[in-house]
Amino acid sequence: MSFENLWAGWRSAYVNSVSDPAPTESERRAPGREPVDDAATCVFCRIIASDAPAEARNIVFESELSVAMLNAFPYASGHILTMPRRHVSDLAGLTPDESDDLWRVTTMGARAIEKAYGAEGMNIGANLGRAAGAGIPRHLHLHALPRSIGDTNFMTSVASIRVMPEALSDSYLKLKANWPT
Ligand SMILES: [Zn+2]
Repeated sequence: MSFENLWAGWRSAYVNSVSDPAPTESERRAPGREPVDDAATCVFCRIIASDAPAEARNIVFESELSVAMLNAFPYASGHILTMPRRHVSDLAGLTPDESDDLWRVTTMGARAIEKAYGAEGMNIGANLGRAAGAGIPRHLHLHALPRSIGDTNFMTSVASIRVMPEALSDSYLKLKANWPT
């Protein structure tokens, strides 16, 4: 096997290890049954609509059309999710303005991650649909997370072990402080 093949295998093992937060309680109770697709039962919509302070909701940044929040189940410290405010399940459902703004906010998040973590690399992407590994397929979101050579994802993909050296509240403060203005 060539080095290139080995490398591709490593990468695909990593990509498979990146999935969304665990299913909600109601999704767990009804395995295989699609939950009602509305904003009232959507965990992201509830977080976005909540009156709680942004820090309590892990929302690092919000614009008129988009939100960036910490992933409550991070695969690396500094793992954020960016999403439209509106309950939309796929890319085609976004208006041009929402699409532009989502990418703008994701780009800001990438810069904040770079500054806050001095990351050597970064993964940015989306899992569209449950077959692709989305835990919350009903509300479109992008993942952005820092990567370093020799980081802990090998452990994640091989042994389902995650090493989280940093509390979410620390990630929150770091990203907030480094978010571009
Ligand atoms: Zn939603």
